[in-house]
Amino acid sequence: DKNESVSITVVGASGDLAKKKIFPALFALYYEDCLPKHFTIFGYARSKMTDAELRNMVSKTLTCRIDKRENCGEKMEEFLKRCFYHSGQYDSQENFAALDKKLKEHENGRTSNRLFYLSIPPNIFIDAVKCASSSASSGNGWTRVIVEKPFGRDSESSAALTKSLKQYLHEDQIFRYFDNYGIIRDIMQNHLLQILALFAMETPVSLDAEDIRNEKVKVLRSMRPLELGNVVIGQYKSHTKGGVTYPGYTDDKTVPKGSLTPTFAAAALFIDNARWDGVPFLMKAGKALHKKGAEIRVQFRHVPGNLYNRNFGTDLDRATNELVIRVQPDEAIYLKINNKVPGLGMKLDRSHLNLHYAARYSKEIPDAYERLLLDAIEGERRLFIRSDELDAAWSLFSPVLKELEEKRVVPEYYPYGSRGPVGAHYLAARYNVRWGDLGIDLDQ
Ligand code: NAP
Repeated sequence: DKNESVSITVVGASGDLAKKKIFPALFALYYEDCLPKHFTIFGYARSKMTDAELRNMVSKTLTCRIDKRENCGEKMEEFLKRCFYHSGQYDSQENFAALDKKLKEHENGRTSNRLFYLSIPPNIFIDAVKCASSSASSGNGWTRVIVEKPFGRDSESSAALTKSLKQYLHEDQIFRYFDNYGIIRDIMQNHLLQILALFAMETPVSLDAEDIRNEKVKVLRSMRPLELGNVVIGQYKSHTKGGVTYPGYTDDKTVPKGSLTPTFAAAALFIDNARWDGVPFLMKAGKALHKKGAEIRVQFRHVPGNLYNRNFGTDLDRATNELVIRVQPDEAIYLKINNKVPGLGMKLDRSHLNLHYAARYSKEIPDAYERLLLDAIEGERRLFIRSDELDAAWSLFSPVLKELEEKRVVPEYYPYGSRGPVGAHYLAARYNVRWGDLGIDLDQ
C-alpha cells in the first residue's frame, strides 16, 4: 500500500546483537526487496551517537550474499541513509515521546506501522515495552514488539513476563540479575526443545501458524517432565593446551565465585504418545566444547539377530544406520548407512548418502534473523512461540531446574575444549544411544 509506512526501532542498538545480527538481517531484507517501500530504521539506546556514527558502526557488519554482489555498495549506501539514531533511556516516557516525534516526521502522514525489536537484557524488557506502548506506539496502524530470548527463568517468571507484556502493566517487575541463565534455560528449554517439537510433532493440518503451533503444543504436552536422574550438568574449567591457557567459566570476572551455573547439560526425554512410546530422546548442549554445531541424529534400532555381526564378527556399531540433520554450521542431511563393499568378499563399510545444501544449492541460506524480522513485519506468527507453548515448555523443565538449585547440585567439571563431562556418556549408554561425532566432513 502506497500510504503505509513501517518504522523499525532496534532498542539496544549499541549492543552486540544489533550489530552482528539485526542490522545485517535488515539490510539483507532490503536487498531482497522484502521491506516495504516506505520504511525507516531507528536505533535506540542510552549511548550517545549521531546518525552518522550509527551508520558507520552498522556499515562495518553489512555483507552481500555471494550470489548478489552486483550494486552491493550502492545498495548499502541507500540502506544506510534510511537508518537513524535516537539516544534515550529505556524507562523514559519523555525519551520515547521524542522518538515518536521523529518517527512521525519520517512517516510523513502515512499509515504508521511500528515494530520494536527489544535487543536489551531481559530485566529492562517491561520498562521498554511500557514506554514504547504508551509514548511511541502507532496511532493508526499496527505496533509489534519482538522480544529476545531468554524469556523468563522458570514457569512463574515467564508467566509474569507474559502477563505484563500482554497488558503493558505499569508495575515494576523485579528480575534477579543472574550471572547467567545457564545452558538449560538458554539453549535446551527453548532452542533444542523447539527443534525436538518440530521434529516429533504429527503432521499439521496445514502450514498455517496456528496449525503448526497446535501440533507443537500437543507433542510438548505429551512429554514427561524431566527427571533429575535423567540430567547431567557440567561446567567448563580452565585448561592448558600447547602452552595456551584457556579460562574456566568461573575465571570470568562477571561470574560470582563458586557459581554452580551449568555451561553443559545432557538430558534424556520421553514422549508418551503412540508414535514415540519407549523411544529415548537425548539432548545435549554445551559451551567451550571441542566443536560447535547443532544436529538432530536419528539412530535406527539394531537389527535383531544381525547376520553380519554373527557371521563375520563386525562390531555391532557398524550395524546401526543413522540419519543426521545438520542444522548448523554447513546445513546438510545425510544418512550413514552400512553397505557391503563391492567384490567377492563380505566386508562391510560405512558410507554417507548426503544432501549438502551449499554444494547442491548455490543460494545462500537466509539468516534466522531475516526470517524473524520479515515474519514480524508481515504479521506471520508461525515461528513465534505462543503462550501455551511456552507454558508447556516451561512445565517440562521447571521442576528439574528448581531441584538443581534447591539441592545445589554441583556440575561435573570438564576441561575447556573437551568433549564435555563423562557423565553424558553414561547417560547415553543407559538408553543404548551413542553421541555421534558432531560436524563430520561429508567428503570423507
Ligand atoms: P548487550 O550488548 O548486553 O545489550 C544491548 C544494549 O543494551 C547495550 O548496548 C546497552 O546499550 C544496553 N544495556 C546493556 N546492559 C544494560 C543494563 N544492565 N541496563 C540497561 N541497559 C543495558 O546485549 P546483546 O548481546 O546485544 O543482546 C541483546 C539481547 O539479546 C539480550 O537479551 C541477549 O540475552 C539476547 N541475545 C543475544 C545474542 C547475541 O548473540 N549477542 C543471542 C541471542 C540472544 P546502552 O548502554 O547504549 O543503552
